[in-house]
Amino acid sequence: MKVAILGTGYVGLSTGVSLSEIGHHVCCIDVDEGKISLLQQGISPIYEPGMEEFLARNIAAGKLRFTTSHREGLAGAEIVILAVGTPQRDDGSADLTYLEEAAKDLAAHLIQGTIVVIKSTVPVGTNDEIRKIIETNCHEDVSVEMVANPEFLRQGSALKDTLEADRIIIGSENQQAASKVKEMYSPLKVPCMMTSIRSAEMIKYASNAFLATKISFINAVANLCEAVGADVTDVAKGMGMDKRIGNHFLQAGIGYGGSCFPKDVKALWHTTRKHDVDFGVLAETMRVNDEQQVLLVKKALKRFDGHLSGKKIALLGLSFKPDTDDMREAPSIKISQELNKHGAQVVAYDPVATSNAKRVIGEKITYADNLLEAITDADAVFVVTEWQEIKQLDIALLGKVMKKVIVFDGRNCFDEEKIHSCKNIEYYPIGRPAII
Ligand code: NAD
Repeated sequence: MKVAILGTGYVGLSTGVSLSEIGHHVCCIDVDEGKISLLQQGISPIYEPGMEEFLARNIAAGKLRFTTSHREGLAGAEIVILAVGTPQRDDGSADLTYLEEAAKDLAAHLIQGTIVVIKSTVPVGTNDEIRKIIETNCHEDVSVEMVANPEFLRQGSALKDTLEADRIIIGSENQQAASKVKEMYSPLKVPCMMTSIRSAEMIKYASNAFLATKISFINAVANLCEAVGADVTDVAKGMGMDKRIGNHFLQAGIGYGGSCFPKDVKALWHTTRKHDVDFGVLAETMRVNDEQQVLLVKKALKRFDGHLSGKKIALLGLSFKPDTDDMREAPSIKISQELNKHGAQVVAYDPVATSNAKRVIGEKITYADNLLEAITDADAVFVVTEWQEIKQLDIALLGKVMKKVIVFDGRNCFDEEKIHSCKNIEYYPIGRPAII
């Protein structure tokens, strides 16, 4: 099939390379000239494992192209996928400006029979609104069929998640359009669920809100574990062995971040307000997460009797999770701000996110080129993102380069045996007894 994708970010690019990998002819369109120029050379503008191999293979096979020209990219497309960003407005609602612009760009070049698929995360009712925009702006002989097809990939494993998804949700009021989209995905051999457009839109928000709530729930359990002397790792393991609960998303830590959970929970909350539906659980999910993101600073303040001024804090990990360079809503942002407020000297290290972090956090903190530089002479270490390199940190090394080894582990990265083998260490994990 000939497929065009508008928006070549994490979702659009992963979808584009995956669809070309399974045999389709894909053209990815983006308004960002810099991004398209890199992609045309086979260079990925985002850090995503496996992306450049996929790019090279499918560009060379002539199945994958990149352009800034809507006319060129949309020519002959049977299916057009909209994958532009839907960021958060100040009031928490989803900002649909990019989607509306993309719909207008698309309408000008649309031909009869093209199926328009919205993959971006959008509030219930958006497919109907976008259809109206397209119909108002396209040639009068053209009618449009919409398909809501939300995306569930995770950054850091985007290609694997696309190629081996748990399910594909296809929402449409038109049987033929839905079947065509199902056929596009058929080589993946992933179960497809057919539903209405509105249910498909809702499935995405309900899923993300549920996962975010699971994270806030286990974080609240972790805080209680600390108070009563239980170990949240064991508690989560014991809970997760129950099939009705499952063991995913039960890792206590310093809260969720990233480009999806925070904004999607807020957008769903905004929808509940708009429709006057009581959904207090969402408010608690957000409140617990806000508190959790600054938990390490609170623990450090307690340990240093309220004084962090002049203390060198090594921040290990900056991206919102490992295997991505994405800094959107990363807990490291709030932690850096709080530490700055208390006069601490922050030295941060991240294996790949440093240049993005510089744009978001700025020069109020120092960025180390390697782990050793960050931890040398630090008064305390904050583990913020559980990158493999950070998980494998030689604890004995800390003893050699720090005056006193004080570790606040926001991701419960280190096993107790390793910590116990190190003399003269103070270790403060989340939801587990501290080792002092
Ligand atoms: P992104 O910001 O990485 O990429 C969006 C891209 O769209 C940008 O490259 C931008 O230049 C481009 N764009 C904007 N206007 C355009 C136009 N008129 N024509 C062509 N291109 C245009 O966004 P993302 O992270 O890929 O997210 C896209 C959507 O998918 C969002 O709704 C998001 O909530 C959802 N989503 C994201 C993830 C994720 O992990 N990132 C997962 C599932 C769903």
